[in-house]
Amino acid sequence: MSEPRPDRTARFPLALERLGTEAATSPAREPLRPQRLLREAAQDAARHVAPTGVGLDSALVRHRMVERLRAEGVCGEAVLTAMAAVPRHLFVDSALAIQAYEDTSLPIGHGQTISKPSVVARMLGLLFEGESARRLGHLGRTLEIGTGCGYQAALLARLAPEVVTIERLAALFDRARDRLATMDLAHMTVRHGDGMLGLPQRAPYQSIVAAAGGDELPDAWLDQLAIGGRLVAPMRQAGGNAQVLMVVDKGPGGKVRQRAHDGVLFVPLKSGAA
Ligand code: SAH
Repeated sequence: MSEPRPDRTARFPLALERLGTEAATSPAREPLRPQRLLREAAQDAARHVAPTGVGLDSALVRHRMVERLRAEGVCGEAVLTAMAAVPRHLFVDSALAIQAYEDTSLPIGHGQTISKPSVVARMLGLLFEGESARRLGHLGRTLEIGTGCGYQAALLARLAPEVVTIERLAALFDRARDRLATMDLAHMTVRHGDGMLGLPQRAPYQSIVAAAGGDELPDAWLDQLAIGGRLVAPMRQAGGNAQVLMVVDKGPGGKVRQRAHDGVLFVPLKSGAA
């Protein structure tokens, strides 16, 4: 069953004005100024950083997560701005929300995990260094394989004018679609199906990112990558068990250049929808 039924696809309305590096915090809120941060940090310390209310405290802990990522230098400002805006705690079970801004992967059900923030930042940072993305100043039309809880898709929606995300597990797809639908995201298509096939109807993609790793990169991804585009995906290295982030660039004439980056640990890429 490779072709998803049309009713398993959700498309969200256009919101072009949300593109770019704009932060998504409510305009009514006071901006994050140093004095305010210090004041909130002091209040936080007094409470032993117990996130009492998901809303107000989360902006502060999220800001700290972003500061850690900035210090590590894993990605550029556009990605950091998106990460400052997207409430990661809303993508995990409420019992795990307290851990949402730690640099850790977390279970999202059905044996799957949301990747840790530094790995997400690294992947998006690598995508941004691709030729098209550098030229455009955004990720271009983007394909994500492995929607999972939808967190990375929500980040992509802030970094790309059009996002297609595919999840093979119906239960995760349903939840991610419903969650993303509440977030007023730009140009987002959430699809239930086998992401190994990509989505040729929307190809070519300037950016392709996978959140699950196999032994090789499916031909469909390479075919659907635009000239000048970049693909970032975990992959098991030949002759070993270690997984690495593969970065593939498609140059003039469709010539593909592939390089292995950091060691990573992602859930397996599986074929077929379930
Ligand atoms: N980006 C996700 C990470 C989810 S984990 C997030 O932010 O939460 C990886 C996901 O890839 C899992 O949900 C798994 O079901 C999915 N997956 C694995 N193989 C797939 C395939 N062939 N097509 C689509 N999704 C796949």
